[in-house]
Amino acid sequence: MNTASSRGTDTTSQRKIPSMCQHQPPCPSADSPDREAAHPVAYHPEQGWSLLCNGVLLFEDTGELLPDGQIIAPHRPLAPGRMVTAA
Ligand SMILES: [Zn+2]
Repeated sequence: MNTASSRGTDTTSQRKIPSMCQHQPPCPSADSPDREAAHPVAYHPEQGWSLLCNGVLLFEDTGELLPDGQIIAPHRPLAPGRMVTAA
């Protein structure tokens, strides 16, 4: 019996996110603390987010979503000198 049971479960679990950055010098990568300095490649102010060329999704409240799924909480007050605390 020659059952073709060679299952090609060859899923390489390390999906490299292709860098969209074409800038010179290259922008900070998504795992760099400087990641917000990358250039926006897509800007959607009506939805409140922009996509940086290093794959970081930057929200207008300064929250971030990294390409690996990590979420960075907003870290900058919207109005300078005014603490926006939960009322
Ligand atoms: Zn770039």
